[in-house]
Amino acid sequence: MRAEFDEKLSQKLYQRLSGVLQPEQILANENMSAHTTFRVGGRADIFVEINHEHELGKVLGVLQEEGLTRLNEDFYLLGNGSNVLVSDDGIRGVVLHLSKAYSTIQVEGTSLVCEAGATLAAIAHKAYENSLTGFEFASGIPGSLGGAVVMNAGAYGGEMRHVVLRVRLMTLAGEIVEKSAEEMHFGYRHSLLKEEPLIVTQVTLSLAHGSQQEIREKMEELAARRREKQPLEYPSAGSTFKRPEGYFAAKLIEEAGLRGFAVGGAQVSEKHCGFVVNKGGATASDVRALMTQVQQRVQASAQVTIEPEVIMLGFEE
Ligand SMILES: Cc1cc2nc3c(=O)[nH]c(=O)nc-3n(C[C@H](O)[C@H](O)[C@H](O)COP(=O)(O)OP(=O)(O)OC[C@H]3O[C@@H](n4cnc5c(N)ncnc54)[C@H](O)[C@@H]3O)c2cc1C
Repeated sequence: MRAEFDEKLSQKLYQRLSGVLQPEQILANENMSAHTTFRVGGRADIFVEINHEHELGKVLGVLQEEGLTRLNEDFYLLGNGSNVLVSDDGIRGVVLHLSKAYSTIQVEGTSLVCEAGATLAAIAHKAYENSLTGFEFASGIPGSLGGAVVMNAGAYGGEMRHVVLRVRLMTLAGEIVEKSAEEMHFGYRHSLLKEEPLIVTQVTLSLAHGSQQEIREKMEELAARRREKQPLEYPSAGSTFKRPEGYFAAKLIEEAGLRGFAVGGAQVSEKHCGFVVNKGGATASDVRALMTQVQQRVQASAQVTIEPEVIMLGFEE
């Protein structure tokens, strides 16, 4: 499968993408461990850095013409790579990455109009600089805005759905559609993007005037809580499992006796059982095997099913 893609389609795609992008935006055989916070995963055949919305449209046009029409099957999309696990075999095909350049943040009164590649940390900083409150909860989440909208990322009582006013999206046919927060179907780690193949290109956030000092203090307090409770010293993808209704995944894992449980270089964090961490030299197979064992043992001990929050890319089912 890989050889076929490499030899024929890969070369053709490379050539055609060179017609719409600069050469440095098209990377062949790119190591995905460099683009994911787990720091594991093999190579992607073609890794494309997207700097502007209009480039995204052109690239989607090329992919469509070459028969790569299905998001997450024929091609993939990556934000900051902080909620994904890429297989050791890597990703056959094309990965689109919203680059650091795709990240402008404009202040319009109490709103921030942000490109999807902007990091949550940069947005929180911009909000702080402009004495805008409401985004402090997200300041320590290491994702891009696009990925955060997909996941309806949240922490410490805040969620993206509380601050999103409008979302600008691109269909796979390259058309732009605008959705209100209500039309985004936000739920626990859920959004419209989990139902339909769309790409977030821009988001308008609605914040409120606040005291700059209080905003800074809030962000510092939340950062300290993260440092105290979370194993930030090791690569991970944050909370590995979703919260099952009525339970906490970390507590179930701890009660199953799995604190510190390891497979190869992957370990249930000793500091926070909800995190699977890469203690050093972990492979994606280690992480996945550990996750499966954790699920099985929690099921056996508590009769509760825990589902991964982390999104698997490049694995054969
Ligand atoms: C140390 C640590 C702490 C964390 N803490 C939290 C936390 O407190 N709360 C929380 O909710 N999460 C947390 N996370 C998880 C993660 O940071 C969030 O889920 C984040 O929102 C993912 O954003 P991303 O840009 O990294 O997305 P990625 O991991 O790159 O992608 C996630 C999914 O979104 C899709 N996607 C990405 N960008 C777009 C786009 N523009 N349009 C359409 N689809 C897109 C991808 O295809 C993929 O399916 C943590 C992770 C780590 C490593």
